[in-house]
Amino acid sequence: MTHPTHKAMPQSGIDEQTILAQLDSFKSQDPEYKNGRVWSLVYYIDEAHQQLLKDSYFKYSSENGLNPTAFKSLKKMENEIISATASILNATDEVCGVVTSGGTESCLLAVKTYRDMAKDKRRVKKPEMIIPETAHVAWYKASEYFGVKIRQVPLDGELVPDLNKLKKMINRNTVMILGSAPEYPHGTIDPIEAMGEIAQKHNIPLHVDACVGGFILPFMEMNGEDIPKWDYRVPGVTSISADIHKYGYAAKGASTITYRNLDYLRYQIFVQPNWSGGVFASSALLGTRPGGAYAGAGAALQYFGIDGYKKLAEETLQAVNRLKHGIRSIPELEIMGNPQGPLFAYQSRDTKVNIFAVGDQMDNKGWKVNKNQKPDGLHAMVTAQHLKVVDEYIADLKAAVAIVKANPELANQGGAATYGMIAHLPLRGMIKQKVLEMYSELYRAGSGLIDLSTQANTNVEEQAPKKRLDRALAWYVNRQTKKASK
Ligand SMILES: *Cc1c(COP(=O)(O)O)cnc(C)c1O
Repeated sequence: MTHPTHKAMPQSGIDEQTILAQLDSFKSQDPEYKNGRVWSLVYYIDEAHQQLLKDSYFKYSSENGLNPTAFKSLKKMENEIISATASILNATDEVCGVVTSGGTESCLLAVKTYRDMAKDKRRVKKPEMIIPETAHVAWYKASEYFGVKIRQVPLDGELVPDLNKLKKMINRNTVMILGSAPEYPHGTIDPIEAMGEIAQKHNIPLHVDACVGGFILPFMEMNGEDIPKWDYRVPGVTSISADIHKYGYAAKGASTITYRNLDYLRYQIFVQPNWSGGVFASSALLGTRPGGAYAGAGAALQYFGIDGYKKLAEETLQAVNRLKHGIRSIPELEIMGNPQGPLFAYQSRDTKVNIFAVGDQMDNKGWKVNKNQKPDGLHAMVTAQHLKVVDEYIADLKAAVAIVKANPELANQGGAATYGMIAHLPLRGMIKQKVLEMYSELYRAGSGLIDLSTQANTNVEEQAPKKRLDRALAWYVNRQTKKASK
């Protein structure tokens, strides 16, 4: 008998049409990204572009980039993608790199590379990296995975890393410094030129995380925007990560990591000469590497070209500026820091207006708005596609602020209560434990399994993780109130 929590594999295969129809039907409860109400997860333009990505991905969906000498087509595509990337990053001829599966892989690889380089060249045994508080969470992941301790640079009031504090954190165990162009939470471009000077003076590598900015900031600059220098024109910059599956509008699974020259990149390469399966070498984290993702990325770069990306950057910036303008016209809200790229965050400047409650109101109106913490805010990762929804967004936002202002109790309800508590409880270790518990529950055999074929079932199953969250939070509140009453 089959274990009740596991859905059995069909005994005999199902016909192609049924399978494809099933796949379409699974989408029924996914976010509807084509209408411009989703931010940051999907970079959608139109059906013609979508079709090109599908067709090009499909042509290489079986091809494997594991061994670069086997499928010469894929190595050729990788070379062309890296060359195109290097050229928009103002690289010299020596800049080289690897196509990866995404920004996280690119960031992880940089940490591994610089850790191993410091180990080899300077015998560093307790590696550390210096990263601003606003560094993407991938860097925290890299720290855990690769045992490189984080020294976190605090920010000033404008969300810029404090460089005097950064300087003091440098020691003989420092294997790398990180800056972002821009950082993900608020869209601020770190002061890369100043960071480059510090890095060069101490002879420490400086990685620029341009995962989100790499395929849009160069085109904004070409359009005449005043963007501070952050790429290979800055002498101290030794490597850059840039995602093609964000503002390069590639199919999912495509990012790049480039290095100033091969002396850095060689530390990224893994070699095992004694494996019984043969002598093995690999340039990135994955073993099998998806050919389709290379083809999709290469196709996107060809499809748009410089002119196409400039136009997308222009339209994106137009949407950003109109959104910012609309938000500035709402007295209870303010833009955080000085964001210059395609994304920004905003916060409440009125104690009566809880920003997470505003987020709930926006969610009720069908906007999938992301939330920031430390400080609390709402996030907007804007694409050209959002231009068409700017007016609606601002109108809904104005209404949301008015509702929250008139009903301050909304701060203690729904998502605002949950999120506010998670963001503000001082017991970070316990939050970590609780989130870990909840998250692993999603992966318990059979749990969190959503049967999309029946609405009724979905309700029951989908509620399970939510109930656990509620219980966990009830436990916190209880504990806090008890503490407070002592
Ligand atoms: C998106 C992003 C990453 C991680 O990229 P994934 O493709 O989501 O793995 C890293 N850094 C920054 C600044 C990003 O915006």
